[in-house]
Amino acid sequence: MMGDKDYGRFVREAMDSIARELEVPVDATDPSRIHAHEVTRCLRRSYYERDSPLDGPPRGFSGLLAGMLRRLGHAPPEAEYDIGGGRSIVGRADMVVDDTAIIFRPSDSAPRVPDAGDMLYLNACLWIHGKADGVVVYIAGDRSETSFSLTRDKRMFEETVRRARVLGDLLAEGKRLPIIEPSAECASCQYYERCYAKQRMGKPIGLIKDLLGHNPDP
Ligand code: SF4
Repeated sequence: MMGDKDYGRFVREAMDSIARELEVPVDATDPSRIHAHEVTRCLRRSYYERDSPLDGPPRGFSGLLAGMLRRLGHAPPEAEYDIGGGRSIVGRADMVVDDTAIIFRPSDSAPRVPDAGDMLYLNACLWIHGKADGVVVYIAGDRSETSFSLTRDKRMFEETVRRARVLGDLLAEGKRLPIIEPSAECASCQYYERCYAKQRMGKPIGLIKDLLGHNPDP
């Protein structure tokens, strides 16, 4: 904050709006083409995004970087993998270098392990682009990088295909929602109140104070 202007907020909003403009649109009316990012996160969230979307959290750095790499021509063209039954999984890596597919993700600090959804997404990109090896690069606010490599895995991709079929079937049917998938993702999900009770701040119950108050060792 400088003076009475919150420049950080302006920058975040500008980044978000550029990232949204650079996003690859999903055709909500076509359940035969399921995007890889839709099935490597909560299926119910992806269903809501097509059926009755709400504005989500800011796209942040990864959305901006991925969009810019696409616009600058560093990303490979979007491609499809035929999963049978007239359906396909659509997606693309952020970059392909020397036959290795790369995706970039933001991170608060250097992660010890890669996010499971990121590994599923990267693996889907390997099958979609026909590559054997991939890397997910986490970039933290201090510009430090942490990367994890992955060799194309059939079992992981079979799970992604299964999820794509479930989402495609439910979207085509239009009557039932995918099951709730409780995870850390729920905390930042714009559909939280559709899945769970309305959020309310509870009053402190004083339990910790009571416990400490009866502790003979201060
Ligand atoms: S709140 Fe959780 S379970 Fe519900 S749609 Fe969002 S991520 Fe999925």
